[in-house]
Amino acid sequence: MQEFVNKIAKLQEFLAGAPKRIAVVTHTNPDGDAIGSSLAWAEVLRGLGHSVSCLVPNRYPSFLGWMQGIENVIVAKEKPEVAAAEVAAAELVFIMDLNKIDRLDTLTEAIEANTTAPRILIDHHLSPPTDYALMFSHPELCSTAFLTYKLIEQMKGTEAITTSIAENLYAGIMTDTGNFAFSTLTPDLMRAVAVLLEHGLNIPKVNTAVYNSYSADRVRLLGYSLCHKMELLEGGRAAYLSLSEREMRRHNFQLGDSEGFVNYPLTIVGVKISAMFIETRKFIRVSLRSRGEGVDVNVFARKYFGGGGHKNAAGGKSFVSLRETIENYKKAVAEFLPTCNLEE
Ligand code: 5GP
Ligand code: MN
Repeated sequence: MQEFVNKIAKLQEFLAGAPKRIAVVTHTNPDGDAIGSSLAWAEVLRGLGHSVSCLVPNRYPSFLGWMQGIENVIVAKEKPEVAAAEVAAAELVFIMDLNKIDRLDTLTEAIEANTTAPRILIDHHLSPPTDYALMFSHPELCSTAFLTYKLIEQMKGTEAITTSIAENLYAGIMTDTGNFAFSTLTPDLMRAVAVLLEHGLNIPKVNTAVYNSYSADRVRLLGYSLCHKMELLEGGRAAYLSLSEREMRRHNFQLGDSEGFVNYPLTIVGVKISAMFIETRKFIRVSLRSRGEGVDVNVFARKYFGGGGHKNAAGGKSFVSLRETIENYKKAVAEFLPTCNLEE
């Protein structure tokens, strides 16, 4: 706690003096936590008088389109010059919800080119590198949004929380915990949610905006994936889903449509690890999920798919065909599961 307080003092030193130009950046394929924590933090910084831009490498899914402030987020893939100029002009950079700079994809180069702006990390992923000017790295927390809440609480007090900050933080917490299902859910987190409620959060509104805003195509694609594309392995302890580019085209696939599919096999009794393979033009995107303590998909993703993440949610990439990727996954689970404690 004392260390946290000391770091807040350091953070305030970075923010002291004349108003600054600040870039708030987050990871590729931004999710609710990435966008929610970025928007909330940007609003806090603007409240302190700074000039702040939020940047993402590629477009966020449409189910986050309701979030207040999202219309001003700069999508680097769509406006590379604007994004590069904004990053180059920044005097301070906040890196949200990711550990390694290379997860910034199209933004990585611009960030690395700006060698003068100090970089401050606000994140909950495991094993970040240590070359940041200041690091708030809290893998024990469910989400970057909850960490952002703690920063606001400590730095400005909860009076600083507006309705939009409350909604954006809640959206991050809700999505990164699988709607309060899979992360460590502490009394502290629930108290934070209570405070957000006191500051204008409307839970059914956020819930409906995020979870009940799918297209019919997306719902049909889910049905198709579960009915025709789900396979169980290892006596029902492992599972996977896969979608080819063709199958996605057939279902009029929009960015973000496959979000959450990977969780469904884990609702089957006995399944400990689930994977989703999505074919893109350049590689196969790998999503991994597990339940409980025994199967660490962060380790699995690092070992077999050059990725990482958290114990129960991780991802990576595969640069061979979809079919080969699936074969590799089958071999990997056959090797990995016997090393895990599958008791609980
Ligand atoms: P998702 O399956 O939702 O894309 O990703 C789940 C989690 O895995 C994310 O929170 C992210 O931290 C992590 N992750 C996904 N893809 C990668 C990757 O390519 N590299 C690393 N290091 N982490 C990833
Ligand atoms: Mn997160």
